[in-house]
Amino acid sequence: MTMADKLLPLIAGNWKMNGLKATARGLARDIAERARTTRLACDIALCPPAPLLVVVADAIEGAPVALGAQDCHPEPFGPHTGDVSAEMLADMGCRYAIVGHSERRAEHGETDALVRKKAAAAHRAGLVAIVCIGETLAERDGGKTIEIVTRQLKGSLPEAAAAANTVVAYEPVWAIGTGRTATAQQIAEVHARIRADAPPDIRILYGGSVNAKNAREILAVKNVNGALIGGASLKADDFWTIVQSVPH
Ligand code: PEP
Repeated sequence: MTMADKLLPLIAGNWKMNGLKATARGLARDIAERARTTRLACDIALCPPAPLLVVVADAIEGAPVALGAQDCHPEPFGPHTGDVSAEMLADMGCRYAIVGHSERRAEHGETDALVRKKAAAAHRAGLVAIVCIGETLAERDGGKTIEIVTRQLKGSLPEAAAAANTVVAYEPVWAIGTGRTATAQQIAEVHARIRADAPPDIRILYGGSVNAKNAREILAVKNVNGALIGGASLKADDFWTIVQSVPH
């Protein structure tokens, strides 16, 4: 990849375990309609829960909005009850798969090694892996942020990770869903480190309580190439304000 085809920033909505068919359809149609009629300065992805992928795929058809999943299994098929493979997600029309979100690391005991396998599975299926990393509050208070983030990055990115197939999302665990965002300085420090260690030109998103009010400041920080949005992605107006906060 040359500088000439530098990727646009990415604004990705992580809906987590929220939405039913009707609300998902309404929200996705609303975003798709706005995207169709706007000159965009960023890529947009919506990542609904797996059962709603088909509803959202239908609602965004033909619009400049990509579909993403919130997780994938490392294997392409087999006896893994309740799991979904990257191949299935690609077949549903997904372009992205989030892997290693801190909620999965905490609630499902996902390790860097497993996250790396999931990211490799996403690549195998032709998906772009959004690999999440970030420190807990205890780790930040213990002065371990850079050590943790560096270790997670190294452990979670497959060999083949490159700007075309991988996005890194820095999401301090203490900022997710708490209404507490990292400061511009904290974000700049961690993103500079990720930039130094990650494959060239890879997009580095910030995630953690980004909202319609703080997005402009966060998206202007050096080495911030977009954002992963949880709560604020469930409201079309807020999500759209964030999309429009990407520097042109
Ligand atoms: C997330 O879960 O990826 C996230 C960033 O959530 P929130 O925006 O709600 O903090």
